[in-house]
Amino acid sequence: MIEMRSEELYALAMRYMPGGVSSPVRAYKPYPFYAKSGKGSRICDVDGNEYIDYCLAYGPLILGHAHEEVKDAVIAQLERGWLFGTPHEGEIELAKRIIAHYPSIEMLRFVNTGSEATMAGIRLARGFTGRNKIIKIEGGFHGAHDGVLVKAGSGATTLGIPDSRGVPPDMVKNTLQVPFNDASQLERVLDANDGEVAAVIIEPVMGNVGPIPPEEGYLEEVRRLTRENDVLLIFDEVITGFRLAHGGAQEYYNVVPDMTILGKIAGGGFPIGIVGAGKAIMELVAPSGGVYQAGTFSGNPVTIAAGIKTIEILERDNVLTRINALGDSIRAALRDLLHDAGVEAYVSGVGSMFKIFFSPSGIPVRNYSDALRCDRERYLRLFHKMLSCGVFLPPSQFETNFISFAHTDEDIEKTIEAYKSCIAGL
Ligand SMILES: *Cc1c(COP(=O)(O)O)cnc(C)c1O
Repeated sequence: MIEMRSEELYALAMRYMPGGVSSPVRAYKPYPFYAKSGKGSRICDVDGNEYIDYCLAYGPLILGHAHEEVKDAVIAQLERGWLFGTPHEGEIELAKRIIAHYPSIEMLRFVNTGSEATMAGIRLARGFTGRNKIIKIEGGFHGAHDGVLVKAGSGATTLGIPDSRGVPPDMVKNTLQVPFNDASQLERVLDANDGEVAAVIIEPVMGNVGPIPPEEGYLEEVRRLTRENDVLLIFDEVITGFRLAHGGAQEYYNVVPDMTILGKIAGGGFPIGIVGAGKAIMELVAPSGGVYQAGTFSGNPVTIAAGIKTIEILERDNVLTRINALGDSIRAALRDLLHDAGVEAYVSGVGSMFKIFFSPSGIPVRNYSDALRCDRERYLRLFHKMLSCGVFLPPSQFETNFISFAHTDEDIEKTIEAYKSCIAGL
C-alpha cells in the first residue's frame, strides 16, 4: 500500500465529506494535517511531522494523548464488552465522583455529547419552569442544535455564519442574546421579558471565541439577577469542568448555578455529555418525570471507564495545580515577548487556557464583539508559522489553546521560543 500524504488525503476526503471534514473547525487552508498518532503532549501526522499539541482535540485531552492508565481502563472495559443497553455499575461510580465535586449537582443524566446535553438541559429548564424563552451570551457556544445557533461561537464564528441556514426562525425566536461581562444588559432583557424566561445559559469562562474570563463580580451579578427573577442559571462547563478546578468554574469563582452541563474532559477523551442539577429539577427527566430524553449510547461503558480513570488521576496527581501554573507562566511569557517585539496584541485566558488575540492596539477582549474585531488573518499567519516550528495551535483566532498534564517544562520552553521566532515579522 502506498502511504498517502495529508494533501492527497484531504483532496480525497473532499470527494466524500463536505469540506473534507467531520466538524467544521478542522478544515483550514491549504489543507489540514492528517493525524497518524498521538502520545503525551505530541501529535504526529502522516507526513512525518511531530507537533507539541495545544489544540488537544479542543479540550478533552487534559492528560495528553493516549495516557497509559486511561488506555488500560478502556482495554479492561473492552474485554468485558462495550455496550449493554442495560444499566452498569460504572455509571454510579462516575456519577458519585462528579457529584462529589459539584455541589450544584445532586443527580445527573449521561448523554453522548455536549451538544446533546445542552439540548436536554434547555428542554428540562423549560419543562421545570413552564416558560419558553432562554437567554444566551453573544458568542457563547452550546453545540450545534437549532435553538442555540444564534451568534454562536466556535466554527460558526470562524466561518462567519453566526446563523445557520436551515434553522426555522420559529426555532430561535425564543433565544435572546446579551453580551458577556455586562450584567446591566442582562437585567434589561430579564425585565423586558418578565415571567417568560426559563433560563440563562452561559459559559462562565467563554471558550469558543477564544478564552474570555468573567470580570470581577460579573458571575455573582448574573447569579443574583437570575435568582431574583426566578430564572434558572445554567453553567455550560463543557470546557471548564474538571479543567479550571475539579469543580469547574463554579468552584473557581465560587458561584453556584442551578444546572450544570459537562462534557469533554468528563469522558476521558471519549464522547460524553452530562446534565446535572438539584433533585427537584432532575427528577423531571424521564422515566421519573415528564421531560423526555433518551439515547442508545448514553452511559457508554467505555466512556464511563475512561472518565472514572481520568478523574481519579486528576485528583491523585494534582494535575490542575500544575497545568494552571503552566498557564500563568505561558501567559506571562507571551506578554513579555509581545512587548519586546513591539507587537500590539492581547494575551487572554485563565488556568490552563490561553490565547493571543490580535485586537486593535492590543486592547482587552471582554466579549464577542471585541473578539470579532481581532485580526484573524494575522492569527492564521501565526498559526501556520507555529505549525512549521512544530507547535499545533487551534487553527482559528476564536478557539482556545489548552495545556495538558503531559506538557513538560521543556515543551513550554520550546513553545515560547517558537512564539518568539514566529511573532517577529508577522
Ligand atoms: C464543545 C462544547 C460544546 C459541545 O460539545 P460537543 O461534545 O462537541 O457536542 C458545548 N458547549 C461548550 C461550552 C463547548 O465548548
